[in-house]
Amino acid sequence: MESLSRRVNFLSPSATVAMNQKARDLKAKGIDVINMGVGEPDFNTPDHIKDAAKKAIDGNFSFYPPVTGFPDLKKAVVEKFKRENNLDFTPEQIMVSCGAKHALSNSLMALIDKDDEVIIPAPYWVSYVELVKLCEGKPIVIEAKYESSFKITPAQLEKAITPKTKAFLICSPSNPSGAVYSRNELRAFADVLQKHQKIFILSDEIYEHINFVGVHESIAQFPELKDRVVVINGVSKAYAMTGWRIGYMGAPLWLTKACDKLQGQMTTGASTIAQKAAVAALTSDQQCVKDMNKAFRRRKDLMVKLIREIEGLKVCDPEGAFYVFPVVKNYLGMSINGRKINTTEELCMYLLEDAHISTVPGDAFGDPDCIRISFANSDENLIEAMRRMKEALGRMK
Ligand code: PMP
Ligand code: GLU
Repeated sequence: MESLSRRVNFLSPSATVAMNQKARDLKAKGIDVINMGVGEPDFNTPDHIKDAAKKAIDGNFSFYPPVTGFPDLKKAVVEKFKRENNLDFTPEQIMVSCGAKHALSNSLMALIDKDDEVIIPAPYWVSYVELVKLCEGKPIVIEAKYESSFKITPAQLEKAITPKTKAFLICSPSNPSGAVYSRNELRAFADVLQKHQKIFILSDEIYEHINFVGVHESIAQFPELKDRVVVINGVSKAYAMTGWRIGYMGAPLWLTKACDKLQGQMTTGASTIAQKAAVAALTSDQQCVKDMNKAFRRRKDLMVKLIREIEGLKVCDPEGAFYVFPVVKNYLGMSINGRKINTTEELCMYLLEDAHISTVPGDAFGDPDCIRISFANSDENLIEAMRRMKEALGRMK
């Protein structure tokens, strides 16, 4: 007899991970699926990073690491925050975890009590709402749609704040919309948050380096907020290291200490070999990051052009990350071979089964009008995928 906890019963599976698995399953059956569902760079990890991991294996880094991470990695993270974000952290404020996802779940677990409200701008990354629910908190979603370039306003933030608000979760560059907040826009959020001293800020900056509009700005840069911001980042996206599972955070010491306690009970820390690879990533020449960014920019331009050629779709030109988030509303309610497509989930299933391209339904990101398409794929695949999509949508009536 199944007897799962309410906690798990109420948790939805990750739609991004699920779509990736569906694409893998079809591929295993020999079907030529173009996977644009999962969000991960298609590049291999650069050689100098792989070499550092090989050296760590031969150097017998095979014992448990310190729970919060190796000192050389924490030093590299401190230096990265200073060099790239002009943020001052001490090594004690840094914690290394199994991916940014784990840094985020540690932080939420350490901060959120039952019924605490967490303000989350939609469209949001699929895991935010579920992780808050897992902590028995209450996600308070504020919507930004295509018409406002998927960016919330300071007035919306202000309006969502109640005496129960515990935290504000911001992601820039955004997954799934690609929206990037400028310094001025963040300044305006800081002005609102300044009036509400008890609100903690979680800033997910995992797409920092995939930015098409200039410099990355962090909400932690405002001195009046710094003591209540946790900056979450990692090596997954910038260095094409999704499978290595190394993320990190910089936070007030009391929060890092709490996460240390949690992680000490739950995982004992992140893989030693992967940590040594991350040291190489953060401390070596950053040309690989620039090269990958250049490729993402080219593919972004290509995708926006191809999508705009498809009748009935609207798309914002993303300012960062590697996703486009077109509005597909015009196709909802249409039919194909007598089968009515009512939701983005049904549309994505149709595109997967018929056109063999995997995408993710917007509903999973809190926007039922859009679908997410990752352009972390070869130019050739992007062209073919959009040809298939145009053809499949064109057959709907
Ligand atoms: N935040 C966002 C917005 C993401 O898209 C991802 C990608 N999965 C993560 C965090 C987690 O990254 P990581 O692979 O480092 O756990
Ligand atoms: N960030 C990626 C995505 O959104 C990876 C999958 C996941 O961890 O959700 O597709």
